[in-house]
Amino acid sequence: MLAFIGLGSNLQGPRKQINTALNSLDDLSETKVLRISGFYQSKPLLEIPGPDYLNVVCKIETRLSALDLLSQCQQIENKQHRVREIRWGSRTIDLDILVYGDEVISTKELIVPHPEMIKRNFVLLPLFEIEPELELPIFGKLKDLVAKVESSSITKL
Ligand code: ATP
Ligand code: MG
Ligand code: MG
Repeated sequence: MLAFIGLGSNLQGPRKQINTALNSLDDLSETKVLRISGFYQSKPLLEIPGPDYLNVVCKIETRLSALDLLSQCQQIENKQHRVREIRWGSRTIDLDILVYGDEVISTKELIVPHPEMIKRNFVLLPLFEIEPELELPIFGKLKDLVAKVESSSITKL
């Protein structure tokens, strides 16, 4: 299965945190990282105080089920000492499953495609960089989403 993961960090060396998580993803059984976007820098959501974020999107090929992939992502977050305080608060690393093939999943633990992704320039722009022709379940052509999203508040490094 082809899938896309969004990674974000704003604590303890965001660039290093993201690279560590990418290596951990590639080390998962039956999983290979195929493509990695550049780094995108932006301010925290909802004006929550905290350092700027770095975000990256990667494309993976995996034989893990979507739920197993989620639990592996959460293990990587835990390994990198993610502490859950307030929702959307500062974090060492966040790994979100953006897309899992053409599957539509809506359970308590997992919603795919990620429901917030269409509003987020820090997801849409790096995703577009590595897969411009992507067509998303439910949301349609990535191109059209990118054309609509605000992009002046984000910097590609
Ligand atoms: P957001 O999901 O808005 O980006 P967040 O990434 O900060 O917020 P987390 O604290 O990382 O939120 O995750 C909260 C819960 O979201 C997790 O426990 C997980 O079960 C659930 N979740 C639902 N869909 C997904 C998904 N596609 N990828 C990752 N987690 C998901
Ligand atoms: Mg997130
Ligand atoms: Mg998350």
